[in-house]
Amino acid sequence: MTDAAAPPLLDVRDLRVTLATAHGPVAAVRDVSFTLARGETLGLIGESGSGKSITALALMGLLPERAGVQGRILLDGQDLAALDDAAMCRVRGARIGMVFQEPMTALNPLHTIGHQIAEPLRLHKGLGMAAARAEALRLMERVQLPQAARRLDAYPHQLSGGQRQRVVIAIALACGPQVLIADEPTTALDATIQREVLSLIAGLVAEDGMGLLLISHDLGVMAASVQRLMVMYGGTVVEQGPAEALFLHRAHPYTRGLFEARPRLGLRNGAERRTLRLPALPGRVPELHLLPPGCPFNDRCAWAIDDCRQALPPRLSVAPGHDARCIRLHEVNA
Ligand code: ADP
Ligand code: MG
Repeated sequence: MTDAAAPPLLDVRDLRVTLATAHGPVAAVRDVSFTLARGETLGLIGESGSGKSITALALMGLLPERAGVQGRILLDGQDLAALDDAAMCRVRGARIGMVFQEPMTALNPLHTIGHQIAEPLRLHKGLGMAAARAEALRLMERVQLPQAARRLDAYPHQLSGGQRQRVVIAIALACGPQVLIADEPTTALDATIQREVLSLIAGLVAEDGMGLLLISHDLGVMAASVQRLMVMYGGTVVEQGPAEALFLHRAHPYTRGLFEARPRLGLRNGAERRTLRLPALPGRVPELHLLPPGCPFNDRCAWAIDDCRQALPPRLSVAPGHDARCIRLHEVNA
């Protein structure tokens, strides 16, 4: 449960990330504000290229070189955006853990699993060799890695994809972070393993009372996993609200398109699925320098009018705690 009186664990205000590209500096993330409470699970969804990973990397202080960050990233009141590299290095791993999409790239092929889980414990917690190894074993058991004791000295290539992702989760959890960011943590895994890894993450987050930011382009993953949901497009959050309310009442034309572009949730009949797969999202996410002015979705939106090209729409209220950036909200939802 969240405590309304306590300040949020994570409070992101007006985050803007500018990336250096071949077309000059362009904003990959803009006007992004959200909070994450202790024990809360928050989803970030959107098509590939909408700015989800750049948002996560900004929180972790892991943006590409020559990237610029503006705005505030308050973790327990401390502004991470203002920290230098050394200070951010102490936060990363210790207070914010991250699980990446592709476990093989997150792991070092030259070091054993046990060594890689023990490393943050030695670095951030100052544990000695033996204590760190014992704790690594405990973490491997915690992420339900089969035959953990034997696997301490195994190398990443000796594990399956699902097992490797469990190791990445163990590393992310090693120092008991307050926030866990999972960026498409199951995309590289097959469907059965996906469910296992998601339920593992959900269980660990609940046990430790961490805040979870779960990133995915898969609505099915989100439906089962988060309390609150943000929908991202063109580097900004176009709609956010309680997951259940948002699933029932999709207010922004982009959210509607995104939901209709896949089979309806809960329908099992194959024929029904096919007829419901609507071509609801024409076109694709443009490259950053080609995003239109105003509402980033205006060039793909059936509701767009001239005013949509003037300025980024403000967050308009749909219901308490639920808002959408669309100046035609009332017409769209009439
Ligand atoms: P998502 O995670 O939602 O799929 P990303 O956050 O990875 O999207 O990317 C958002 C946009 O930023 C995309 O247009 C992508 O091409 C661009 N981008 C990502 N990384 C870089 C980079 N290092 N340099 C320039 N542009 C980048
Ligand atoms: Mg991504």
